[in-house]
Amino acid sequence: MLTIEGFKQALRHAQSEIEANKDTLTDLDRAIGDGDHGINMSRGFEAVVAVLDDDYATLGDLSKKVGMTLMSKVGGAAGPLYGSAFVKAAPKFGDATEADFNLVKEALVEAATAIKARGKSEVGQKTMVDVWDPFLSDLNESDDFDAKLDQLVGATEDMVATKGRASYFGENSRGTVDPGALSSSIVLKAIMKEVE
Ligand code: ADP
Ligand code: MG
Ligand code: MG
Repeated sequence: MLTIEGFKQALRHAQSEIEANKDTLTDLDRAIGDGDHGINMSRGFEAVVAVLDDDYATLGDLSKKVGMTLMSKVGGAAGPLYGSAFVKAAPKFGDATEADFNLVKEALVEAATAIKARGKSEVGQKTMVDVWDPFLSDLNESDDFDAKLDQLVGATEDMVATKGRASYFGENSRGTVDPGALSSSIVLKAIMKEVE
């Protein structure tokens, strides 16, 4: 079960993992982007942690607040993508104060759909979609979530980017893991850890 407190814990955990991986995220984005993804995500999740002390009546309220915070604080391409993910997951959580595995999965499917819609992106373009989409399209309660996420992040290394800033690097984008894929795995790992 994912409770409101568990969701908050997941977001705090995501923030600390993003902080721990801030330089890695920035280095990846320096190789195939503009070198700000670690900074963007760190700023965004610090702002998220700051709103967690407020009271939330439902998982939907919390998810919406997280999304709006990310949308306004992350910036760049990733801000609206992460923002719309949590905002669009909110109605699926609705008035629930705890969510079982299936409800969490449904909400995250909405999030993945929102990212693709906002980014006008599909799988295979070397973006965060290459983590969100395959992770959610084949997710079972018995899966080793961390291993699956690590594998999906690793698979972006060999791809050539055709969306976002990395697409300007063309064939030279091959050989570097997509930074948004890595940050997405951090966020999803933190959430899945709390769904028990
Ligand atoms: P910016 O590129 O504006 O500097 P960030 O560095 O914060 O923004 O985020 C870059 C990440 O955003 C990429 O690694 C990629 O995963 C993701 N991204 C960029 N454009 C898209 C898109 N159109 N669809 C999905 N994900 C995208
Ligand atoms: Mg960037
Ligand atoms: Mg930027």
